[in-house]
Amino acid sequence: MNDANCLFCRIIRKEIPAKIAYEDENILAFHDISPQAPVHVLVIPKKHYVSLDELGEGEKNLAGELLFRIRELARSLGLAQNGYRVVNNRGPQGGQTVFHLHFHLLGGRQMTWPPG
Ligand code: AMP
Ligand code: ZN
Repeated sequence: MNDANCLFCRIIRKEIPAKIAYEDENILAFHDISPQAPVHVLVIPKKHYVSLDELGEGEKNLAGELLFRIRELARSLGLAQNGYRVVNNRGPQGGQTVFHLHFHLLGGRQMTWPPG
């Protein structure tokens, strides 16, 4: 899957609509189309990486930006007080279905452990 037909790259290019929660030069956050919690936002880099595995030395700043943005979104979406969950599914056994790096930010209900 390359940038041209990657679903999330198409959302970044606004070819497919999404409910955007945050956007800057490097990062886009939008609400998941099939929410698994009252708040379920996906946080993605605008540049296409298949997964965390593709982040090299040169992407350390981006990795930090993504994590920082997740924390900021959790605050602005009202999740900071009660807590929330951040998930990255990597590869088939990790449950990844869209092969553009993304983090799930989930909150607004009690989470359970272990995950399915
Ligand atoms: P994962 O299974 O970790 O790869 O997560 C992919 C996520 O993308 C799932 O939670 C899907 O519900 C979500 N998703 C798929 N298509 C869309 C879309 N068009 N807009 C928003 N979220 C989507
Ligand atoms: Zn992509």
